[in-house]
Amino acid sequence: MTTPISFEFFPPNTPVGVDKLKAVVQELGALKPQYFSVTYGAGGSTRDKTLSAVMDIAAAGFEAAPHLSCVGSTRENIAEILATYRAQNIRRVVALRGDLPSGTATAGEFRYASELVAFIRETQGPDWHIEVAAYPEVHPQQRYAARDLQHFADKMKAGADGAITQFFFNADAYFHFVEEARKLGVTQPIVPGIMPFHNYGRIAQFAQRDGIDIPRWVQMKMEGFMDDTAGIRAFGLDVITRLCERLIDGGAPGLHFYTLNQSPLVLELCRRLGLGAR
Ligand code: FAD
Repeated sequence: MTTPISFEFFPPNTPVGVDKLKAVVQELGALKPQYFSVTYGAGGSTRDKTLSAVMDIAAAGFEAAPHLSCVGSTRENIAEILATYRAQNIRRVVALRGDLPSGTATAGEFRYASELVAFIRETQGPDWHIEVAAYPEVHPQQRYAARDLQHFADKMKAGADGAITQFFFNADAYFHFVEEARKLGVTQPIVPGIMPFHNYGRIAQFAQRDGIDIPRWVQMKMEGFMDDTAGIRAFGLDVITRLCERLIDGGAPGLHFYTLNQSPLVLELCRRLGLGAR
């Protein structure tokens, strides 16, 4: 049985981006993913654009899962957004705490994603599918790995159906995290988030910001390619293909690809791995 896949997008900002995303949805949709998810800007800044992208995905005949972050929001705000999704027949959501843009007031009625999960479950009932975020290399604001893991387990117990991890390049970090989460009673699937090397410089910045380790040998090779984009592409594909192979062999229950709204690398990875419908 092939490993289930899902794809993540960000809501486009321009009409050109909207059209491009529709084309990418068709290309990746041919692989029959479980769902496409769409991120939600800090503090609700992309509320309408996220909804619009989700509606485009649903109109194209695919399951769509909006991300929803709660920090800085009131219960009333969140209830309103959930009601909009319910009215559009959306029942899948990625529930997050989120990060407030710096300088924004912190007033809000939710402190942690676990509170959002509990709120969605209480107000929407059991028919919603709720995913949450997991951090195999520890959430960057958390100093103690054991505490982060316990908070993650509590979040799952609050009513989540599954988790998607932050991206990582070290399969052992993922396997260790899953093993430790199981010891704390987490039984739901924990799906690895896979970030292809769309653009090495940008991915390295994300990794630095989010406390994700890029192995030194990968960094050195990537930096050595300088402007050789073909070399970067080929090497990056090999690294990520091997990572995915290890994850699949080790029993990962699915793979969630961070697409950055681009299809070529993800299509090539899925082709190499034999993933998705053909
Ligand atoms: P939480 O699970 O609430 O954890 C946040 C921090 O609080 C952690 O350090 C945790 O250890 C700590 N904590 C949790 N509970 C407690 C407690 N009871 N007491 C004390 N400390 C506690 N961001 C966006 O803005 N939009 C998106 O669309 C988006 N999508 C994402 C998708 C994925 C798959 C991932 C992995 C991340 C995504 N993010 C997104 C980033 C995310 O919002 C940030 O990482 C944010 O800092 C934490 O969100 P969370 O839901 O993981 O928070």
